[in-house]
Amino acid sequence: MLFEFATAGRIVFGPGRLREVGPAAREFGRHAFLVTGRDPARAQRLPGLLAAGNTAVTSFALAGEPTTDAVTAAAAQARAAGCDFVIGFGGGSAIDAAKAVAALLTNPGDLLDYLEVVGRAQPLVRLAAPCVAIPTTAGTGAEVTRNAVLASPARHFKASLRSASMLPRLALVDPELTLDLPPALTAASGLDALTQLIEPYVSCRANPLTDALCVDGIRLAARALRRAFHDGHDAAAREDMALASLLSGLALANAGLGAVHGFAAPIGGMFPAPHGAVCAALLPSVMAANLAAARARQPGGETLRRYEEVARLLTNRPTAAADDGVAWTRQLVTELQIPSLAAYGLQPADVPSLVEKAAQASSMKANPLPLTADELAGILTAAL
Ligand SMILES: [Zn+2]
Repeated sequence: MLFEFATAGRIVFGPGRLREVGPAAREFGRHAFLVTGRDPARAQRLPGLLAAGNTAVTSFALAGEPTTDAVTAAAAQARAAGCDFVIGFGGGSAIDAAKAVAALLTNPGDLLDYLEVVGRAQPLVRLAAPCVAIPTTAGTGAEVTRNAVLASPARHFKASLRSASMLPRLALVDPELTLDLPPALTAASGLDALTQLIEPYVSCRANPLTDALCVDGIRLAARALRRAFHDGHDAAAREDMALASLLSGLALANAGLGAVHGFAAPIGGMFPAPHGAVCAALLPSVMAANLAAARARQPGGETLRRYEEVARLLTNRPTAAADDGVAWTRQLVTELQIPSLAAYGLQPADVPSLVEKAAQASSMKANPLPLTADELAGILTAAL
């Protein structure tokens, strides 16, 4: 058995713990570059909390998901202001942008020198600047991952900037920050978290540490996501989902993902579709396709055993069969009103080029077994 496990330098979890950010941030520098989502008002408490720790703040509001241009502009602003560390406050977009800015703050050259798939994919020359990640959604787990997913509008693709030194030095997870999330965002981000627990669990790179995290996380998401969707102020459900999301980030950063995220990279690059909603729409068809492929090519193998365990965890029934897990997931996606991919403009004519691009995506390499182009096309068609 060979494996490695790396995560954020420090993880602080619990309701109300945002108030600890002032003294905690102080050890990373004197001038923070604060990246927020499109509504910076949600971060209004932060400058005061940071000022109490004598930390100066330059703010940057990111509109939408991070693009290579937005990150390049943000890094230039951070450098000009003399910032020595970065704070990401928001959903996965703001946190990923913050991690990318932290990498560019200390490294020479152009973002494309370091970007995977669409760039030159060179390793970072220097360690990234310290980054503090504070999620306000329960979905991406980006607070404990070592990559930033950036959209390249010119190449119609989403690709990662990735380095072990991009792992945040502090992940501060305060479930109270998610209490006001609207149901559609709760659904999409929560189903992203669930996807990010199922994919690493069946991944060909799974290890005993990520298995333990996934088993707990799947159980938490299965019991809490419906409740958080129907009653956003159910504090216990919000706390379960914040923890499930954190566990998903820990797992995916160390065991990889699979075909759902393999498709999410090109789809997110070509269509204005939020990442979580794309993953949610694809999850049941990917589970079904992986099961069919495993039955045909690895009968009695580890993948089938793992999908049976997933079904037991999701349904909370010890006798559940692997197909029951697919049906449970399909029902949840319907109940949480996830639109089909056609709602974002995907058409049958897009399938061949998306299949070709998805086959090259880094996440696809961790799928439990390689899928054929026909199988990939079948997944996409079923999600339209
Ligand atoms: Zn995801």
